[in-house]
Amino acid sequence: MVNFDLTGEHPWVSVPEKLDSVIELNEDDIIEEEVLNQVIEDGINCMAQLAFENADAKGFHNPPPSFPESLALIHSEVSEALEDYRKGHLPQAIWYTDEGKKICGIGSELADVVIRVGHLAAMHKIDLGSIVVQKMEYNKTRSHRHGNKVL
Ligand SMILES: [Mg+2]
Repeated sequence: MVNFDLTGEHPWVSVPEKLDSVIELNEDDIIEEEVLNQVIEDGINCMAQLAFENADAKGFHNPPPSFPESLALIHSEVSEALEDYRKGHLPQAIWYTDEGKKICGIGSELADVVIRVGHLAAMHKIDLGSIVVQKMEYNKTRSHRHGNKVL
C-alpha cells in the first residue's frame, strides 16, 4: 500500500529542540559550532558501532563481507531507492509492511544506505563521524558552484 501523505512534521524541524535536551546551550541559546560538531561526530560514530554490532549479532560477519562487497551492498540500497521512485513513490512517502513492523519507502532505503555505510566504516575502523564533520567544514569554504558543474 502506498502512502502519499506529506503532512506531518519534517524531521529536521525539531532538531534544535532535541539537541537542547542533550547538550548545553550558551546564555544566548546558541549552540556552539564546536559542540554541535562533536554531537554530529559522536552520533554518527555511535550509529556506525550499533550497525556493526547488529550485523554481527545477525550473523553477517560469518564470513565478513569484503570491502568491495560492502560497497556493492551500499549501491544496492541506492538502487532500491531508485526503484521506489520509478514505481511512482514520492521521496517523502512512507508505508509499512510486515504487519506494521517494517518501514518502507525511499527514506527507508536511504536509511539502509546510512546504516550500511556506518557498518562498513566500523568494520574498517574508519572515524566516519570526524571525517563527515571535516568534509562539511571544508565544503563551507568552497566557491559558489565550484567547478562550474551543472549538478
Ligand atoms: Mg533496502
